[in-house]
Amino acid sequence: MINLKALLEEINSIKPDVRLIAVSKNVTSAEVLALHAQGQLEYGENRVQEMAKKQSEISAALDIRWHMIGRLQNNKINQLISLRPTLWQSCDSLERAHEVDKRLNYKLDTLLQINSANEDTKQGVLPSNAIETYLKIQELCPNINLKGIMSIGAHSDNEKEIQKSFELSYKIYEELKPHGAQICSMGMSSDFKLAIKCGSNMIRLGTILYV
Ligand SMILES: *Cc1c(COP(=O)(O)O)cnc(C)c1O
Repeated sequence: MINLKALLEEINSIKPDVRLIAVSKNVTSAEVLALHAQGQLEYGENRVQEMAKKQSEISAALDIRWHMIGRLQNNKINQLISLRPTLWQSCDSLERAHEVDKRLNYKLDTLLQINSANEDTKQGVLPSNAIETYLKIQELCPNINLKGIMSIGAHSDNEKEIQKSFELSYKIYEELKPHGAQICSMGMSSDFKLAIKCGSNMIRLGTILYV
């Protein structure tokens, strides 16, 4: 397992105030507890059932906060709402926002996922629709509390391609700042340094934490 303090120092030497979300989708609750013992409080899961399982295994007294980062099926929305995630990072359309909004009885902090590299395999709104969708959700979904954007870097070996996708996401984030956007979530194990240089203030790291 990684030395969390050393990793946070490395992250903050690139830019201060970057929030680390530890992605726990491929590890057990025991590994979450081991990271928690080093001070990590925020975790990301891409499946609602797995989030529920870990929540039931880990004491609520530990004050762990959960982020939903994966595709949300309509038949899992009620369960997600009941788990009270800190942040739903993977809102990928106006329709999905609406489906969640109408079931919510509290305000859910949410990020709009943007498919910046325009890849068929990825969820999210296309860059050309991002601003309009963001504003529509704000207008039409009172319980969806939009806090910014989330994006996954281009799937490529070419660093320039990845950089381009981060720069595009950041540009959209900047345009949304006057509308209240505060979070730019981008960067995973393989590309988080580049993402931070491109303006990210929230990174989602999995693999690198558990080697
Ligand atoms: C799995 C996942 C991550 C973490 O990826 P690693 O390469 O293991 O760091 C980050 N974001 C999302 C949306 C993921 O699904």
